[in-house]
Amino acid sequence: MSKQQLIDQGQFLHLSRTQPKLFSQPQTFELKNGTQVVISAPGIISFTPPQPKGKDIVLSCGVHGNETAPIEICDDLVVALLTGKLSASHRVLFLFGNLPAMDIGERFVEENMNRLFSGAHSKGPGLVNDERKRAKALEDAIRHFYAEGDELEQNYRCHYDLHTAIRASKNEKFAVYPYRHGKPWKTGQLCFLLACGVNTILLSNSPTTTFSYFSSNEFDADAFTVELGKVRPFGENDMSRFLQVRETLTALIAEPELTLPEYNEADFHIFTINQVINRTKEDFRLNFDDDTPNFTDFPVGYVLAEEPGAVYKVEQQGEAIVFPNAKVALGQRALLTVVPTLISAG
Ligand SMILES: [Zn+2]
Repeated sequence: MSKQQLIDQGQFLHLSRTQPKLFSQPQTFELKNGTQVVISAPGIISFTPPQPKGKDIVLSCGVHGNETAPIEICDDLVVALLTGKLSASHRVLFLFGNLPAMDIGERFVEENMNRLFSGAHSKGPGLVNDERKRAKALEDAIRHFYAEGDELEQNYRCHYDLHTAIRASKNEKFAVYPYRHGKPWKTGQLCFLLACGVNTILLSNSPTTTFSYFSSNEFDADAFTVELGKVRPFGENDMSRFLQVRETLTALIAEPELTLPEYNEADFHIFTINQVINRTKEDFRLNFDDDTPNFTDFPVGYVLAEEPGAVYKVEQQGEAIVFPNAKVALGQRALLTVVPTLISAG
């Protein structure tokens, strides 16, 4: 493979997956339009236009390997940028998270990578598996990208970590807004998400080890975990359902400024977390059907989950379930419950 082939065909993800050794050494080259491309590892590529317009944009996907739609969306954007069909106005870093898990069509190989950020990769047993090492490499890539942005006097940071959920959702697309330690929630960001087709927002109430919290907390980036629908195998996604997110991400990269409609609270369903239910025993079970959609609510008093010594019930009117997964490792989160809330415009 020559650089010219990569530029002509743009198949960075394909080559990262099939011939990762090609990218074992960092590479830098320039496109015809003057954009500088840096490939620092398989699945990690950045684009810096000759006169970057201020935004340092990070788009990540495939942190869970079987969440294919966002991987396809990012792959298409990288192809368009490499082949010159799309010209970036801003700097943009693409991170294809878990390449080995993509190859086996699984969420992860050994460990859920979206519990390994903010240094969690090096705690406990340390960097003992590929997912832990990769989480650290992804963090380093963001740190480096933003540090370079500082040198170029870039003035804005964002990071959208794109996922699809394991199960259907009553609100098909939704985003998790990482905990902001008391700083205001930004309604302008919600307007951006709405333009991506995301009208349901979950406000996080504590620090986590997710990728989006890492960028929000350590780099003050506008960061979100964005769930774009239900997991399907590669090639089986109805891509028409992702048109809005494709178009909005394309505009974010290509347009010097985005024009978005004003915030209107009636456009959104906003939730805050009420209960975090961890699986602490082998014999843990959820008390609703496996295919119950995210954001389904249950009556007050309803038993949501049980394990020896504990019963978890609905506490408030409108309390709904999100991210149920009874099969998580012991000590990990098996279910979140959320309740409707409002945020003030700001
Ligand atoms: Zn995911």
